[in-house]
Amino acid sequence: MPPEKNNVNPQENAWWFIIAKDQIVLQPQGNFIPYGNLDDLPFPEKLANNVIKIADYHSSPCYLVVLQEQLDIGLGEYLSLRSLLGRIDDLLFDLTGRAFQLALFYQTHQYCGKCGHKMHAINWETAMKCYHCQHRCYPRISPCIIVGIRKDKEILLAVHHRHLKQNNPVFTVLAGFVEAGETLETCVEREVYEESKIRVKNIEYVSSQPWPFPHSLMMGFLADYESGEIQIDKSELVEAAWYHIDNLPVLPNNGTIARKLINKMVEQGNTEI
Ligand SMILES: [Zn+2]
Repeated sequence: MPPEKNNVNPQENAWWFIIAKDQIVLQPQGNFIPYGNLDDLPFPEKLANNVIKIADYHSSPCYLVVLQEQLDIGLGEYLSLRSLLGRIDDLLFDLTGRAFQLALFYQTHQYCGKCGHKMHAINWETAMKCYHCQHRCYPRISPCIIVGIRKDKEILLAVHHRHLKQNNPVFTVLAGFVEAGETLETCVEREVYEESKIRVKNIEYVSSQPWPFPHSLMMGFLADYESGEIQIDKSELVEAAWYHIDNLPVLPNNGTIARKLINKMVEQGNTEI
């Protein structure tokens, strides 16, 4: 059976997420993502057969085009997803993150993991299907917990190895991947204990944030200190300590869920009687 294809109306205006080698074509101004119809844009002819609809944005379809090489198609520059952090609105950033995640998904699921035959994109849901054995794969999303821990007017902040290369290391809250068969609450307790030997209580969910580097979903929690002395896991952390909310070190940027959790703890600390 042939692969299913999206029907692109060549006269309809659309957003074009064109990705090649982990970078995306961005325009220097406006919304960054190229916008227009297939007939008017300077696309090579062959692109029209390689288009996947991934969403709608402001009533126009969003199309993903994955190229093998960074062809100069005259629409802008190839830049990284990280270069867009904090520069476009949250919804458009999440859509761009979706484009990257799906590009990775389609590139890494060309062959069936069960029987080895070629897989094909289907167009009634976001999936790749093997028509030989009927195996179907969906984009991988890796759930991650991230947790702010309160102890009176102090909060637990740590420096991770990956942040150490910066001149001014960022101090942030603890985080980790959810393991198979684990609830989010158990994951919070385990990750905090593994990384700091601290026990927590009163775990409450706050909000989530897709984090497409490459396919995490951060789920943010707050918790209270229960017991223990800080002893860091040196394979994960460089240092960790309690910081008073009036005297905090360098924090993650606004727009990250880590900063949102820290801001919430500061706000709560300042309103407590
Ligand atoms: Zn198969």
